Amino acid sequence: MATELGHFINGNHIAGASGRFHDIFNPTTGDVQARAALASRSEVAKAVDAAQKAFPAWAAFNPQRRARVMFKFKELVEKDMDNLAKLLSSEHGKILPDARGDVQRGLEVIEFSCGIPHLQKGEYTEAAGPGIDVYSMRQPLGVVAGITPFNFPAMIPMWMFGVAIACGNTFVNKPSEKDPSVPLRLAELMMEAGAPEGVLNVVNGDKESVDALIEDPRVKAISFVGSSDIAQYIYANGTANGKRVQAFGGAKNHMIVLPDADMENVVNQLIGSAYGSAGERCMATPVAVPVGEGTADALISMLKPKVESLRIGPSMSEDSDLGPLVTAAHRDRVASYIQMAVDEGQELLVDGRDFSLQGYENGFFMGGTLLDHAKPDHQSYKEEIFGPVLQIVRAENFEQAVALPSDHQYGNGVAIFTRNGSAAREFAQKVNVGMVGINVPIPVPVAYHTFGGWKRSGFGDTNQHGPEGVKFWTKVKTITQRWPEDVQGSEFVIPTMN
Ligand code: NAD
Repeated sequence: MATELGHFINGNHIAGASGRFHDIFNPTTGDVQARAALASRSEVAKAVDAAQKAFPAWAAFNPQRRARVMFKFKELVEKDMDNLAKLLSSEHGKILPDARGDVQRGLEVIEFSCGIPHLQKGEYTEAAGPGIDVYSMRQPLGVVAGITPFNFPAMIPMWMFGVAIACGNTFVNKPSEKDPSVPLRLAELMMEAGAPEGVLNVVNGDKESVDALIEDPRVKAISFVGSSDIAQYIYANGTANGKRVQAFGGAKNHMIVLPDADMENVVNQLIGSAYGSAGERCMATPVAVPVGEGTADALISMLKPKVESLRIGPSMSEDSDLGPLVTAAHRDRVASYIQMAVDEGQELLVDGRDFSLQGYENGFFMGGTLLDHAKPDHQSYKEEIFGPVLQIVRAENFEQAVALPSDHQYGNGVAIFTRNGSAAREFAQKVNVGMVGINVPIPVPVAYHTFGGWKRSGFGDTNQHGPEGVKFWTKVKTITQRWPEDVQGSEFVIPTMN
């Protein structure tokens, strides 16, 4: 009988009561290794109750005490790193070193959040008018929620609850039903770090639990990361229910390669960013745009043998380049996009569809695929594939290369490889995409900057973590004060500072 993963509410593990479950696979073997309970509306309400009850006391913790909990949490996660990475790798399928990276990138946001006493400080203006001082404070919102995707089950929950909890909010995380063990373990560690019960809760579930969070008036804000149609749904319904919402969606990131780029460096960077984590990263590079035919031919001649010799292995292996995809259904979807690309006239230079790993024939493996001559009007180029598939779109010149990512429906990340500083600078200024790498293939900003894509990659106007995260998880109150010594007369005209 598969292990059942329930919810984590008010500091306790609670078995699921709805009778509905979702299978959790081991993508390396293809076996069902556990099943996640899918919460009913009343179970979600219990998590919100717990968070609501915990809020006043947690918000009243002074910022330094909240920071101490975050420091302790960081220490505990570091101690638990190997366990967390194994849990993550066994459910997601990413290789162990990459699983550690997933935890580490989340921890960097926790480190940022340790600075909350300074980050949450308000502003003060002395003598803004006669006897008048003005100051502002950033107050927590109350109960807030995070709905997270399968592909970064450690980093993305920590992006959200790291900042939200440090700001004095209490949190309900609804992680992906495909790999919920790490979010559950993080909630245990948060309690161990000294956060009171109810400060961080986890409910497993699907659309029913998401809708319950959207419709519960006690939930003041929702942060979402996942695919674009769901992001748009959550943004539209969350805001219609009066909530503050940020919702990040899918991606199709391009790497522009100018003729003067160091081609060996380009190929080394591209192979990692296109195929690492089996392409299941929102900041992967599934499109390469060489500028000029000579650049394209040079790129392909060096890239193709590397794609053919990618080391694909069990997720727990330390020395594979990539592991399996998350589910068989997702692998089949990726395979159907490869067929679509072929039918659209793209040239299949390397076909990963028939790959099978000896001893793991039921695992959800796929080899690397390389396609040339993708065109802007091809459906397989317009949509996100989210697998180990790299499409090459040849551009004739710099202007065309800037237009491709700029005109694409997604605008998460983009990279340019060149030795020409002024071309890189012009590209960074002109391109219509939220995060840009210059000779950096996966430009995920550091924790104290801010993460967010444009167009269909991001709905809402505030990014994840960094100062924007603090802004998202707090509301500003502005106080104008006067302490008159004499009785004041009435004023019927709006006061000005003349
Ligand atoms: P997903 O949209 O299927 O699921 C994300 C979350 O939404 C999960 O918690 C899931 O349970 C929930 N959900 C699924 N269907 C729902 C529905 N109909 N109604 C309400 N909630 C629903 O995404 P995924 O497959 O878990 O993750 C991969 C996607 O996430 C890719 O598109 C990837 O690009 C994107 N992603 C984006 C970023 C970013 O920062 N922009 C980061 C990581 C992943």
